[in-house]
Amino acid sequence: MSTGLRRFREPRPSPAPVAGERCEMCAEPIDARHGHVVNVESRALLCACRSCYLLFTVPGAAQGRFLAVPDRYLYAPDFMLSAAEWDELQIPVRMAFFFHNSALGRTVAFYPSPAGATESELPLPTWDRVMAANPGLADAAPDVEALLVDRRPGGFVCHLVPIDACYELVGLVRSRWKGFDGGQEVWQAIDAFFEELRARSREVRAGHG
Ligand SMILES: [Zn+2]
Ligand SMILES: [Zn+2]
Repeated sequence: MSTGLRRFREPRPSPAPVAGERCEMCAEPIDARHGHVVNVESRALLCACRSCYLLFTVPGAAQGRFLAVPDRYLYAPDFMLSAAEWDELQIPVRMAFFFHNSALGRTVAFYPSPAGATESELPLPTWDRVMAANPGLADAAPDVEALLVDRRPGGFVCHLVPIDACYELVGLVRSRWKGFDGGQEVWQAIDAFFEELRARSREVRAGHG
């Protein structure tokens, strides 16, 4: 049999669902690329099929208990944050994410660590000052969008991202961190994560005018 013909007879690699991956709302099988829904009370992130995802893009669906995570990626190269403000935020690693938790009625801060997403107590006056300097990033949707800040040698970089992107970074750090400083492999993976984020983001201005 010619290899050309054989190619037609072989089943095509389909974007088949990864074994066991199912919509966590209706149990429909889903493929690796799927949307997520946040349970606002428990903070759980649920994998969702297209129909369930779309259902929860409607404001007020399920009395607002579940919210679909949007697909908006912004990058603000002019993000303003001073080293002194970063110290006040008391983040022990080079990156952290901030989002408005509507169940608590305030902004919360988390950073990725070998133990998973770790909360850092956020001094709200400091955060209010940071947001006043960056009004272009003030419209992040509560619960489902976050500001992801990364400290680089040249200054701070900020992305506005869907909350599931933050948990992807958390998973990456948790699964690849080794020893005291994480090891080379995890930091290469973190750099690659931010490069990919940058590439898919639309550039916006964070500051005034
Ligand atoms: Zn579903
Ligand atoms: Zn998922």
